[in-house]
Amino acid sequence: MRKGLLIVISGASGTGKGTVCKKLLADLPEVAYSISATTRTPRPGEVDGKEYYFLGVEEFKNWIAEGKFLEFAEVYGNFYGTPLNKIEERLNRGEDILLEIDVQGALNVKKKCPEGIYIFLLPPSLEELKRRIEGRGTETPESLSRRLKNAIAEIKIGLEYDYVVVNDAIDNAAAQIQAILTAERLKVARNADKFDFEGEI
Ligand code: ADP
Ligand code: 5GP
Repeated sequence: MRKGLLIVISGASGTGKGTVCKKLLADLPEVAYSISATTRTPRPGEVDGKEYYFLGVEEFKNWIAEGKFLEFAEVYGNFYGTPLNKIEERLNRGEDILLEIDVQGALNVKKKCPEGIYIFLLPPSLEELKRRIEGRGTETPESLSRRLKNAIAEIKIGLEYDYVVVNDAIDNAAAQIQAILTAERLKVARNADKFDFEGEI
């Protein structure tokens, strides 16, 4: 059976990862979203167990101690982590799993799972990134300036990924990611079983 794809989408805060992933998940029902755990407070409309598992700091630390995370990182003062949640078993069953995580977390996952597909989402420009973060209305002027400075450093880490997609328009970016997934599914290494014609004689 074909092993599922571990798809890791990452990029600086405000680039549009969440928005592009939502579109991808709506278009690709076969891809399962890995729900992260976080200690940050829910934003209006966010539901526990849907966007995130919202945990207290103590509970998050217990999950770390119990070995429940594939990776975790502190991002802007809050903890975020990818629950192991039988990821390996699910991939072996052929399930495709999408992780939308920050650059530190993605690099940690890359060390543990080099067979994953690492996609870096870039904003069209720094000016547009600023507009998007401002437009989301979640930052103070100080935290906006901190995020932009961090973004410049995080974007450099994108050079360590496999693919880069510029999030100019959502549909474009989502289509390019779908093209990457199509090409990955066609790799010889993922299709060795198709080369055995001997049984047909
Ligand atoms: P991230 O998950 O990377 O932090 P979000 O998905 O929250 O980013 O997007 C940040 C803001 O930018 C949101 O207000 C979103 O609606 C907007 N946005 C995302 N992608 C685009 C795009 N391609 N064009 C214009 N605005 C976008
Ligand atoms: P937000 O609070 O805006 O939802 O997310 C903030 C940042 O945390 C984003 O860059 C997002 O990709 C990242 N993030 C979300 N879940 C995880 C996770 O499980 N692990 C890591 N390392 N980062 C995450």
